[in-house]
Amino acid sequence: MIHTKHIFVTGGVTSSLGKGIISASLAKLLQARGLKVSIQKLDPYINVDPGTLNPYEHGECFVTQDGAETDLDLGHYERFLDITTSQANNVTTGRVYQSVINKERRGDYLGKTVQVIPHITDEIKRRILLLGSKHKYDIVITEIGGTVGDIESLPYIEAVRQLKWELGQYNTLYIHLTLVPYLSASGELKTKPTQHSVKELLENGIQPDILVLRTEHELTDDIRKKVALFCNVDLESVVQSIDVSTIYEVPILMQEEKLDQIVLKKLNIVSKETPSLERWKKFLKKLKNPKYKVKIVLVGKYVELADSYKSINEAFIHAGAVNDCKVEVEYLHSEEIDQDNIEDLLKDIQGIVVAPGFGDRGINGKILAAKYARENNVPFLGICLGLQCAVIEFARNVLGMDKAHSTEMERKTPYPVIDLMEEQKGITEKGGTMRLGGYPCKIKKGSKVYNAYNTECIEERHRHRYEFNDKYLEDFEKAGFKAVGKNPETNLVEIMELANHKWFVGVQFHPEYRSTVINPHPLFVEFIKSAIS
Ligand code: GLN
Repeated sequence: MIHTKHIFVTGGVTSSLGKGIISASLAKLLQARGLKVSIQKLDPYINVDPGTLNPYEHGECFVTQDGAETDLDLGHYERFLDITTSQANNVTTGRVYQSVINKERRGDYLGKTVQVIPHITDEIKRRILLLGSKHKYDIVITEIGGTVGDIESLPYIEAVRQLKWELGQYNTLYIHLTLVPYLSASGELKTKPTQHSVKELLENGIQPDILVLRTEHELTDDIRKKVALFCNVDLESVVQSIDVSTIYEVPILMQEEKLDQIVLKKLNIVSKETPSLERWKKFLKKLKNPKYKVKIVLVGKYVELADSYKSINEAFIHAGAVNDCKVEVEYLHSEEIDQDNIEDLLKDIQGIVVAPGFGDRGINGKILAAKYARENNVPFLGICLGLQCAVIEFARNVLGMDKAHSTEMERKTPYPVIDLMEEQKGITEKGGTMRLGGYPCKIKKGSKVYNAYNTECIEERHRHRYEFNDKYLEDFEKAGFKAVGKNPETNLVEIMELANHKWFVGVQFHPEYRSTVINPHPLFVEFIKSAIS
């Protein structure tokens, strides 16, 4: 018996229309009606995962609890739904081909020519169905990355076309997201790109059931009727998605457009009468009516693309809302910071975050920013490489360890205060080989961090190869920079905190991955609290 129903979300006309947000918003509405929902993302690139990609390519790499390096849309899914996703929620072409080729080498297809259809499409279908059947979800929403018409996404389109015939009418649904551009010269909204995009889908055998139209201006009834008529969908299934000031409003807008009701009707699902969105609405209300305002500087080297630090940015939105505070995050390129301009760059801000990262480029600016925060009693949060920079800075300027460094940047440093983890030595492959995913950490009572978490045992997600070098811990602690969180099994330093400072915390893990609308991350909440005061 088929239990899980499947919704497939495709995008047309251009990329960046927000398929991830629409999928997450719909999932939120269905979840709020008591249904068990999950979302997965199919990425058409040949990389096995985005772990080896530069953030400039597709933005941040999101790390799941089970240690998968995944697309940033999984971050949206977790933040909206307050669920944890896993490796199974992100499928890439690389991964699909890898398993098909492994099967071929094992001899599983003996005698057969291995082809895109049926072998690649079968593997895609297997992965789509696996998520639902394994966890007994009522609904799985599958977002197909890329834009309809791309050569890369064709096997995915074909796979979901086949699924409709295999699973049946009321068990599958196609949602297509397109753009209705506004031509300011003529003052008109244009539907032709949408018509062409649907035509493209039809050529591949898919008739969308619902069209979601991204637009800058309200769609008139005439426009909706025109789209319905030319794209073979019923009028109520033409849904407007108008630009809004925050992505967190989208579920409410989709509810007003009755997207969830249309979906339930088309999938023949009876659920709770109305979605319960009280906590979500309360968050939105706080978000829109701040009493305070703080300016936080995020020092990083991928700042040209805001998506590079997506989860950190969102974590600040969540933490700001609980504190009734508007958090303005200003991105500062670490390569632009030097001894002479740092004072000017940082004098009007209430908090400094030094971002995660890899390699030597821009490292000095990050170290200078940590120094400025320490010396000027400015609230500081160092994340992963950010913690490592604070450690290097402290070693050089407080402990007198001239030229102290991380061996990632300077192999022959006289003071390797950050060094390669033992289990990383000898690893040469780059893909998926870091210390990844959730690890436990025990926090010292009485620390500021303990106050934030209000518990001794936590678990946070990691993505790194280097660690604090234990050899120097005593020197650091004597001088007031203390390891207040450690891995209980390996003793690896996970959290450092500066005594005699307003709030100066460095973490080896990535707290940003665990912040959600309903459960803002305690470290971000405390950091903002301290920035406000
Ligand atoms: N490059 C550092 C390491 O590998 C920090 C990684 C990070 O910031 N995610 O340890």
